[in-house]
Amino acid sequence: MSIEQVVIVGSGPAGLTAAIYAARAALQPLVFEGHSAGGLIPGGQLMFTTEVENFPGFPEGILGPKMMKAFRDQAARFGTRLITEDVESLDLRRRPFTIKSYEHTVQAHAVILATGARANWLNLENEQRLAKGGGGVSACAVCDGALPLYRNQDLVVVGGGDSAVEEGSFLTKFARKVYVVHRRDQLRASKAMQERFFRLAREGKMEPIWDSVVVDVHGEQAITGVRLRNVKTQQERNFPCRGLFLAIGHTPNTELVNGQVELNDKGYVRLARPPSTYTSVEGVFAAGDVADHVYRQAVTAAGTGCMAALDAERWLAALGIE
Ligand code: NAP
Repeated sequence: MSIEQVVIVGSGPAGLTAAIYAARAALQPLVFEGHSAGGLIPGGQLMFTTEVENFPGFPEGILGPKMMKAFRDQAARFGTRLITEDVESLDLRRRPFTIKSYEHTVQAHAVILATGARANWLNLENEQRLAKGGGGVSACAVCDGALPLYRNQDLVVVGGGDSAVEEGSFLTKFARKVYVVHRRDQLRASKAMQERFFRLAREGKMEPIWDSVVVDVHGEQAITGVRLRNVKTQQERNFPCRGLFLAIGHTPNTELVNGQVELNDKGYVRLARPPSTYTSVEGVFAAGDVADHVYRQAVTAAGTGCMAALDAERWLAALGIE
């Protein structure tokens, strides 16, 4: 079996940017772009986004899937090979590393992990339907909040952590009012974020709905409201709104490497020598959301994808593998 120089696992902005750089460095990268791993499809989380308005270079915005097709085409143009399968196992205990999917087993000197993270959802049927159809349900306020459909509307954010406050306060720039639905009567968010939350609440821009959960989402093409249940009284009521944003955490897609590569206390890949993309395993590099629970943007993922390819290229060259 021939040994690949670099295998990239994941095909969001991080994986495909790593592929573009690795291909242009004549490393002939092989990308496992995934099929349906962790509920994701090739292209990653942007495949579930509508307009992307904050990726530099697209003054008119671009649809998430269209952007990911362009990333993919650009990687392919320089000779990247793509396998549309999920990686089923990754053996990083000895080099060359072994990567197995349903139909392929390959070996590689270097591996770039770019498996991303997935937003947590409530997993309600109507929530999923409207999220996929661009009907005003999203798990990323920073990505979608500035769209015209949310302007001057009542919006609901679910969650009580830093993300809920951060995303909620971002939405106050556009919304009529942002209601934060939290399952307890105390925020989990940091002190500074709580202060921001209560300041915005005093200004009438945000309002908490404590001890409550969303049990259903209403609307055919676009959301018209949610059904709330008070967890203390069990009483339910309909609550009209024109946007629903989930901020109930993310789950990094690290199942494949758990126990082989060091993870941090939140389950994300721990970078061994930040800001470089080296992990705890020599020859394994990480890029994008799989190693980032803070920024989580397409542009930062692309940036670290570039870094991972450069790190891998230099590491291979230092070993004399060309
Ligand atoms: P998080 O801290 O895990 O908070 C998730 C929130 O969602 C919690 O309030 C939780 O409720 C609620 N929740 C979880 N599952 C739920 C469900 N099924 N139904 C209803 N509510 C649910 O996640 P995060 O806010 O995304 O933050 C993740 C990490 O990133 C944190 O370390 C955070 O500090 C960091 N972060 C920092 C910033 C910043 O500093 N600017 C911004 C964003 C994120 P409970 O409270 O009851 O558990």
